[in-house]
Amino acid sequence: MIIVRLILLGPPGVGKGTQASAIVKEYNIPHISTGDIFRSNIKEGTELGKKAKEYMDKGLLVPDELVVSIVQDRLTKEDCVQGFLLDGFPRTINQAEALDKELTKMGIKLDKVVNIDADKEILIERAIGRRICKTCGSSYHIKFNPPKVENLCDIDNGELFQRDDDIEETVATRIEVYLNQTQPLIDYYKEKGIILNVDGTRPIDEVFETIVKALGDK
Ligand code: ADP
Ligand code: AMP
Ligand code: ZN
Repeated sequence: MIIVRLILLGPPGVGKGTQASAIVKEYNIPHISTGDIFRSNIKEGTELGKKAKEYMDKGLLVPDELVVSIVQDRLTKEDCVQGFLLDGFPRTINQAEALDKELTKMGIKLDKVVNIDADKEILIERAIGRRICKTCGSSYHIKFNPPKVENLCDIDNGELFQRDDDIEETVATRIEVYLNQTQPLIDYYKEKGIILNVDGTRPIDEVFETIVKALGDK
């Protein structure tokens, strides 16, 4: 059994969630998406969900103190012993430093930070056409990755919906927020020598192949 501990880094809409689903299947590791965790809290009407929604609807980051403790808790769960994939976390230098501390405490290290990138026009087109399954959270695209039956999830027949923050204006804000607060993480992990840069403009299968090939060489 190989243990892989990964981060997926990249701007909103670049394809992190899509690749994450395929990667976690390949390596049999848990998919930890802070965005998904917030969305399920919103759905369940929790206090955390209520707080997070205020920021998410504006396209802003949820404050670090709310995010970090969730991830710390999640990483100590049994299934993370075999590795994990963090999708959408960390998003600030502060979060990355908190993660480093936690991993040191646990006596483990990250293997790779997969940095997927694409231009702004592509990101906007992908985010606006994104549709999510109500039941399982799987991501589709009306043009680039449509479900077999219109508006229904291939996996569980769940109804597809558009995320509240996938409207053009909010997507533009999220891209700005990424450039200001998250992009500096590329240099942070480059210095640690664990960055893997991937061209996110390629088709879904190609991006996946590139990632698996590179991780296999680890
Ligand atoms: P992220 O998690 O980075 O925000 P997603 O994985 O949800 O992004 O992808 C955003 C949208 O773009 C989705 O609708 C998805 O189906 C589509 N998509 C993802 N990767 C690609 C790709 N390589 N080419 C075309 N469309 C893609
Ligand atoms: P995502 O599903 O990754 O696109 O995230 C959706 C939204 O959730 C973001 O726009 C943020 O408001 C919030 N969010 C998710 N992950 C984080 C994080 N690590 N730090 C702060 N906010 C986050
Ligand atoms: Zn589904």
